[in-house]
Amino acid sequence: MKTCRICDHKIEPFMSFGKMPIANGFLNKSEFEKEYFFEMKVSFCENCYMFQLDEQPDATMMFHENYAFFSSLSKYMQKHFKSFAHFVMELIPLPEKNSFVIELGSNDGIMLEHFKNANYRHLGIEPSSNVAKVALEKGINTLSNFFDLNLANEIYNEHGLADAIICANVMCHIPNLNDIAKGIARLLKPNGLLIFEDPYLGDMVKKVSYDQIYDEHVFIFSAHSVAKAFGTSGLELVDLIPQTTHGGSMRYVLAHKGSHKASKSVIQILEEEKSLGLNKIETFNKFKLNCEASRDSLRELLEGIRIKGETVVGYGATSKSTTVLNYCNLNTDHICYISDTTPIKQNKYTPGMHIPVKSYDFFKSDVPKYVLLFAWNHSDEIFEKESKFSEQGGRWIRFVPRVEII
Ligand SMILES: [Zn+2]
Repeated sequence: MKTCRICDHKIEPFMSFGKMPIANGFLNKSEFEKEYFFEMKVSFCENCYMFQLDEQPDATMMFHENYAFFSSLSKYMQKHFKSFAHFVMELIPLPEKNSFVIELGSNDGIMLEHFKNANYRHLGIEPSSNVAKVALEKGINTLSNFFDLNLANEIYNEHGLADAIICANVMCHIPNLNDIAKGIARLLKPNGLLIFEDPYLGDMVKKVSYDQIYDEHVFIFSAHSVAKAFGTSGLELVDLIPQTTHGGSMRYVLAHKGSHKASKSVIQILEEEKSLGLNKIETFNKFKLNCEASRDSLRELLEGIRIKGETVVGYGATSKSTTVLNYCNLNTDHICYISDTTPIKQNKYTPGMHIPVKSYDFFKSDVPKYVLLFAWNHSDEIFEKESKFSEQGGRWIRFVPRVEII
């Protein structure tokens, strides 16, 4: 039997999504044969409430030289990170002088840029060297490395303690979270703050957005599990702020125990989680049934269109789409191609199901009848951008929060 990655309590997977490739492993035809797969099973720990992947592919397989995700490519995320940076700056004002902010998984510097421009001492830690290089070229202090307790000690020796350690959509990627938590506690000033945000388990359970689950997301957090996981390193929740990003995220603010007063929303959200059952295995047994129902209904809908001889194309070759395509077993019989604006993905094939990825220009010159929206979390933005498609009689297919044709 396996044990929990956080507390060593015995755990058993409550669900398998079957054979999965690397979510961001867009590939060429010549690479099909040697493509890597693993069985994606998920567990819930009844002791520390952590929702986790049973097995995660080696980090070097997921984050490498050709890692395809550059945060700054998304206008929406640019805006979001600017507001995140300003939220942090209000908590850690510059007048203290020499205020020092560390970001874990700083990507191409999309967020640290704001601190640099406001003259904060800053340091980004980014394991993907090609992405880190882009940040360095923008003059953002960046170390290309994986953060752990050893690196925390090295940073301490060179730069001293931090006023804030921040990260976005990174913490849930880190399997050795206990070690990271110790490193963070080591590096934070006595009144320092850890501020991070990640996809929120509460939203995933409510919306049945199982596409949040893929190799990179080794954990999906709740306030319950974050409190437990960081509690052992002497950190506690002092604030919680729900976010709309990634289809529903949570911003967690933590500090050394006793150093800050917790806000009302901490108690309120912990209560909400109890009523949603995020602290009980039964909730996840139900979630499994909901995922299966969603999968069957999406397959049925796409099969119906296929039988009528009509075609469907995909919109947004996201990492999340890899889970949906492989779990629902959707191939080129169901989806002709997926349009994506990221150049590094174009003219490649999707992981596992090998659906071609075409440019946005190709999509614009094509006139598909049905478009399956993988980037459902940007629905409003996309519907506005593609209003002409709808006016011309095109129909959107969405699978979150329910399977439907719009
Ligand atoms: Zn546990």
